[in-house]
Amino acid sequence: MPKLSIRDLNLKRKRVFVRVDFNVPIKDRAVEDDTRIRAAIPTINYATERSARVILASHLGRPKGQRVEKYSLRPVAEHLSNLIEKPVAFADDCVGKAAESKVESLKDGDVLLLENLRFHPEEEKNDEELARQLASLCDGLYVNDAFGAAHRAHASTVGITKFVKHAAAGLLMEQELEYLGRVISEPEHPFVAILGGAKVSDKIAVINALIDRKVDKLLIGGAMAYTFLKSEGFTVGKSLVENDMLRTAAEIEKRAKDEGVELLLPTDHQVVDSYEPVKGQEIVAKTIPIEFTNAGHAGMDIGAETLTHFANALQDARTIIWNGPMGVFEEPPFDQGTIGIAHAVADAADRDATVIVGGGDSVAAVRQAGVADRITHISTGGGATLEFLAGEELPGVAALSEK
Ligand code: AMP
Repeated sequence: MPKLSIRDLNLKRKRVFVRVDFNVPIKDRAVEDDTRIRAAIPTINYATERSARVILASHLGRPKGQRVEKYSLRPVAEHLSNLIEKPVAFADDCVGKAAESKVESLKDGDVLLLENLRFHPEEEKNDEELARQLASLCDGLYVNDAFGAAHRAHASTVGITKFVKHAAAGLLMEQELEYLGRVISEPEHPFVAILGGAKVSDKIAVINALIDRKVDKLLIGGAMAYTFLKSEGFTVGKSLVENDMLRTAAEIEKRAKDEGVELLLPTDHQVVDSYEPVKGQEIVAKTIPIEFTNAGHAGMDIGAETLTHFANALQDARTIIWNGPMGVFEEPPFDQGTIGIAHAVADAADRDATVIVGGGDSVAAVRQAGVADRITHISTGGGATLEFLAGEELPGVAALSEK
């Protein structure tokens, strides 16, 4: 890897600023899902074991440049402290007196978490002054382990790198770049991509990049599929469709065909008669072939036949990437298709395929299905993963020092 790594730094007794991605769901002041916190632990432990004084910084939610209590990182400090079994100090602000005095009291091997970076509107503006103040907290050593935030040029991901001596990738960042980098540069074939979720518009760049990279099969589920199905002339009823993307969908299908990419769409789906479930009333779902869809139906999940087709398409795969749910995964029984895909990709990984899963819902699905530890690499990024796979340079990665 051409970028500097935390493993190249001399951390001993040094104050090191570590940008992490602790953007986790919090409810009633408790962390609901600590996947992202756990993912940063190897880097934190690496630094503390080498007697660094670790200053952690992250964003949380969208407080829009104001101090909003529900977006405070304080509960995360407590949670992290339990996970790493040592105290984690907390500073009420990410810069200024509050931060400086806490940094001052750090001893070798100590850990401090700063308050939400986005309480300052300057963070998202990549403001130089904020970047300079953040950098002044450390001894010229910056580590970025927030892969999930690397597609944004903010003060803590890009601006700060100008004011430090060394800007290095953390262990998680390194791992993400290595796995995802290998997939886009030299994927083993057959190479299969599974895409789902709500919008084609969010995923056009990655679909085109995958076709350019000669993905062998492209499996499309979720609401996205209806835009393709409608552009082919199918009735999709009240299913979620992006009507302004119909032409784009048709163009993608044509490109796929010209490039010899097999594009698979659902052949059956679970539908309801009304998209808005009536409160207190049980949802009546039925599985029907796509061509039996009428004007009143809303498609909520792929059907069993589609799941079988998709699973069969993975049989000989050597590389698989999966991003996005196959249906309205949050509302059972419409999680079945997504959970089914989670099992299918885990089975493929057991057959030694390289399997990369990214995006919040797909990652949640592999965990819910209990197959997470069989997946080759679970990417912590959503948008960042897609942009990286689409071949775009992530600003937070570009800003790191060369080796
Ligand atoms: P995305 O953020 O684009 O990955 O989309 C994720 C969202 O897509 C989830 O909240 C799903 O509920 C939603 N979704 C997936 N399939 C469908 C569908 N058939 N109808 C409506 N929403 C869907």
